[in-house]
Amino acid sequence: MLAADQLTAPSTTVPVAVAHGDGIGPEIMGAVLRILEAAGARIEARPIEVGERVYRSGISSGIDDAALETLAQTRVLLKAPITTPQGGGYKSLNVTIRKMFGLYANVRPCRALAPYVPTLHPEMNLVIVRENEEDVYGGIEHRQTADVTQCLKLITRTGTERIVRYAFEYARANGRKRVTCFSKDNIMKITDGLFHKVFEEIAAEYPEIEKEHMIVDIGAAKLAVNPERFDVIVLPNLYGDILSDVAAELCGSVGMAGSANIGDEIAMFEAIHGSAPDIAGMGIANPSGLLNAAVMMLAHIGQGEIAQRVQHAWLRTIEEGLHTRDIYGAQSARCLSTSEFADAVIARLGQSPQRLAAPAIGNAVETARIANAPTTPAPHKERVGVDVFVDWTPGPTHELAEQLIAASASSGLTLKMITNRGTQVWPRASEMTRCVDHWRCRFMGEGAVSGETVADLLGAIARAGLETIKTEGLYTFDGNAGYSLGQGQ
Ligand code: NAD
Repeated sequence: MLAADQLTAPSTTVPVAVAHGDGIGPEIMGAVLRILEAAGARIEARPIEVGERVYRSGISSGIDDAALETLAQTRVLLKAPITTPQGGGYKSLNVTIRKMFGLYANVRPCRALAPYVPTLHPEMNLVIVRENEEDVYGGIEHRQTADVTQCLKLITRTGTERIVRYAFEYARANGRKRVTCFSKDNIMKITDGLFHKVFEEIAAEYPEIEKEHMIVDIGAAKLAVNPERFDVIVLPNLYGDILSDVAAELCGSVGMAGSANIGDEIAMFEAIHGSAPDIAGMGIANPSGLLNAAVMMLAHIGQGEIAQRVQHAWLRTIEEGLHTRDIYGAQSARCLSTSEFADAVIARLGQSPQRLAAPAIGNAVETARIANAPTTPAPHKERVGVDVFVDWTPGPTHELAEQLIAASASSGLTLKMITNRGTQVWPRASEMTRCVDHWRCRFMGEGAVSGETVADLLGAIARAGLETIKTEGLYTFDGNAGYSLGQGQ
C-alpha cells in the first residue's frame, strides 16, 4: 500500500508508471487507460519504456536507468506484456523488477465466469498468493562433479513470515474466509517444514480466518478436481509458479486474469498472458487481463470504489455477451474489437452485474503492517560438526571411509556417516543403493566445533588426495539440530 502522504485526500492523484509493452501491449494498455479515465481513476500515467526495444539496444535486463528512476518515484507500475527476444543473454524483466524492488508477493485471483467463459468449475473463485523471491528461484546452481548438479533451495523465516502475513492480510481485506498452505514438509522437513511452521504461527494472529495445511501433492490433486473448495492458497515460489497457471487454466480464463507483484515499497500489476505477437496490430486483443490487473492496482492505491466501478462495468459487459474474439462462442452476443470492448465497458460504468457475482474488492492490504511486524529473536547458534562433500569415483565405500578416518585422526572430529544422494552407505548400507561420484561425509565433534578445527580437517582431507566439493556446517539452534539425518540413518 502507498504511504499515507500519497493517500491523504480522496482527490489526490497518484502517479503511476505505465509500460505500454510489446505486441498487443500498446493496444490493450490504450483500452485500459481509456476505461480508467472514464471511471474517474485518480492516476497520473507516467510512461516508461521496457521490453523488446530496450533489450535490443543492448540492455540485457530490458529496463533502463530512467525507467527504474520513474518506478522508484511512482512506486506503482502498470505493465503491459513484453516480448523477450529469442536467444541467450536476455534476463527476465519480471525477475529483475521483483528482485530489485523486493516484490515478495505474487497475487493471482482465479475466478470462473461461467457460463460466459466455459469451464468445468463454474463456482471456482480462489486467489493464489505465491512467494516471489526465494526457494529455488535464487538461481544458485552448480555442477559439482562429472555426474552431479545441484540447485540451492532457500526458505527463510523472514521471507515466509512476510508472505504468510500477506496472505492473511489479503484474506482479511477482501472478505476471504480461509487460507490454505501447501508445502512438502513430509520430505523437506527443514525448508518446507519452516514454511509450514511459520504458517501455523502467523495463522494464530488471525483467529477469524480459517486455516488449513495440505501436502502439495494432494493439495494439487484437490485443486485440479475440486478448485471450488479453495479460497486463498499461500505457497512457496516453485509450487506457486506451477499451480497458479493450473488454477488460471482451470477457471477457463487464462487470457483474462490479472496479477499483482507486491513489495513493501513498490508494486507491479500486469495481465498473466504474454504479448501475443500473432495478433499484434489487429485490434482484436482482449484487454480484460490488464483491466483486472488495473482493478487490483486501484485497490492497492486506495481507490477501491473506482476499482469496484470498473469491475462491475466489466462484469456487466461480459454477461451481456459482448466478447472479444478469444472468448467469442455460442454463449456470446457480439464479437467486439479491443476498442469496441473498451467502449462497451465505459458505457456500463455505474451499472452492476445482474448474473455474475462481483467479489468484494476490499480495502488495500496493509503492507506497512507486514513490513513492521515484530520478528522472532535470533536463537543461540552453535557449530557441532561439518558435512564434507567429496568427488570420488564410486567404489567400495569402506575404502573411502578408511581414507577419511585416517585423514581425520588428529582433527578432534569423528566420521559418523557417509551418504550418497542422501542415502546412508556407511557404516550401514544396502547393496542395492546405486552410488554416484558425490559423497556426503558427516564429521561430528564433542560439543562446539571451531572454524579452525574444520579448516584443519579440510586440509588433512586434501593432503590425503581427496577432493572436497563443498562443506555444510552442522549447527544447533537453541540446542535443536539444524540439519537432516541421512536416509536410513
Ligand atoms: P501469449 O500469452 O502471448 O500468447 C498465447 C496465445 O494466447 C496466443 O495465441 C495469443 O494470441 C493468445 N492471447 C494472449 N493474450 C491474449 C489476449 N489478451 N487477447 C487475445 N488473445 C490472447 O504467450 P506466448 O505466445 O507464449 O508468448 C509471446 C511473448 O510474450 C513471448 O515473447 C513471451 O516471452 C512473452 N511473455 C511475456 C509475459 C509478460 O510480459 N509478463 C508473460 C508471458 C509471455
